[in-house]
Amino acid sequence: MPARKPKITVVAERTEICKNCRFSDYKRGEEIKCRRNPPSFVYDVATGCTAVAWPLVDADSWCGEYKCQLNS
Ligand code: SF4
Repeated sequence: MPARKPKITVVAERTEICKNCRFSDYKRGEEIKCRRNPPSFVYDVATGCTAVAWPLVDADSWCGEYKCQLNS
């Protein structure tokens, strides 16, 4: 009986992440804003103030709306 081949697991690194998405607004040293949709009102419970803001995302996060960067 032939020996079983060892099972090989390939772990691919995801590249479809917020950092690479055309909708991300990233400036060095700042948080990444997702500009896929218009900004929303946010309410700060501590101050009672409202503001308009885009969602902040992590560089390696992703969502189903991901689109790759456009070549210019
Ligand atoms: S949340 Fe989605 S649409 Fe927004 S930057 Fe990340 S992948 Fe792109």
